[in-house]
Amino acid sequence: MAQLKLTNSMGRRKAVFEPLDPANVGIYVCGPTVYNYAHIGNARPAVVFDVLRRVLMHVYPKVTYVSNFTDIDDKIINAALESGQPIESITNKFADIYNADMKALGVLPPDHQPRATETVPEMIAIIENLIARGHAYVAEGHVLFDVPSFKDYGKLSGRSRDEQIAGARVDVAPYKRDPADYVLWKPSPPGYPTWDSPWGAGRPGWHIECSAMAEKHLGLNFDIHGGGLDLTFPHHENEIAQSVCAYEHAGFARVWMHNGFLAVEGEKMSKSIGNVLLVNDLLKHAPGEAIRFALLSSHYRQPFDWTQHGLEEATTTLTRFYTVADTATAPGKVDPEFFDALCDDLNTPLAIARLHALAKAGNGADLKVSAQMLGLLGGDLKTWSAWFTKAIDTAAVDSLITQRNAARSAKNWAESDRIRDQLAALGVAIKDNKDGTTSWSAT
Ligand SMILES: [Zn+2]
Repeated sequence: MAQLKLTNSMGRRKAVFEPLDPANVGIYVCGPTVYNYAHIGNARPAVVFDVLRRVLMHVYPKVTYVSNFTDIDDKIINAALESGQPIESITNKFADIYNADMKALGVLPPDHQPRATETVPEMIAIIENLIARGHAYVAEGHVLFDVPSFKDYGKLSGRSRDEQIAGARVDVAPYKRDPADYVLWKPSPPGYPTWDSPWGAGRPGWHIECSAMAEKHLGLNFDIHGGGLDLTFPHHENEIAQSVCAYEHAGFARVWMHNGFLAVEGEKMSKSIGNVLLVNDLLKHAPGEAIRFALLSSHYRQPFDWTQHGLEEATTTLTRFYTVADTATAPGKVDPEFFDALCDDLNTPLAIARLHALAKAGNGADLKVSAQMLGLLGGDLKTWSAWFTKAIDTAAVDSLITQRNAARSAKNWAESDRIRDQLAALGVAIKDNKDGTTSWSAT
């Protein structure tokens, strides 16, 4: 069997993956901050590391997959203050939506999905250790990590000291000993969520939560830590600093993996451009499986350009794959060339090229079993096709309703009836009153 090789961001080398304990491989992946809908950029790490998990599950008897929810954060607090809703109703709502969206993309639920608010005592314990070992200090109700005390700081991201403090230099809080120092614990203003601590009532900074949750569920040393490239600095650099310095053990995560950035139609996704694509919206227009397939068409370390064209192509290909897989009469096996491609640092484009070859050869049985390792072709042709007959083009429906209202105003009853029948053929029932159509629903 092929050996699994992974690129470790720490040292930027591709090497054979050797787990600490082959009987139980541990992965931690940074999860979302739950105060709004997940966008397609949030879905990329979820899908990429889900494929890694499936490959590991094929090789090893047990994989423990941990991914957190950040449910305490200034952005969440602001959203709560603005909307007048309690923090928990916001975080519970968006955690549920996130899980439903990821399920639609075929992402397996994590074995552990800890929340920051449930892990505060563990965070406090790490901070106490850091202070006792001279790696953190208390200043004006804050606890700060003393960055110059950790000589390996910057090793993961490869950032020089100047680059590390470039962002911090503009407005350095007066209580920091060094501009690069960052917050482990901070006081809460009145009305903010607060926990008791040895340094007064307050709340944790962001970075400390992942150190606490990884240790709680995977131990002080574990195999793989994943996340988006944007988390390398400062988040992952800080996780390493905290976990290594709190216990002075050699490790924390042994392999660091980062997926590349995602753009939309060639542009950076941003609120100001108005091109933020929410998974929840995309799922109204395309099957989750097609969205997943499109995301896997590039290698995970490369930047990814999300395009409508790519999504349509993924949909067409899956229809073809399902059609071929439907012809399978005997159980299949995972194709060796396909598996070799995945073992080479999750080379999904090469693995997908092999799926095309299997489809072309009419090998539906191996095609189906192999594709399932990517989380694809889990259903059948009938279920796949049913999605498209159910899907309704809402813009087309709205346009037909406008035309029908115009026909009714002009007392053109024949045309009005014709459009009503056309809508019925699309699976749409309409409700009228004397002024026109008031609502419609799918039949
Ligand atoms: Zn994290």
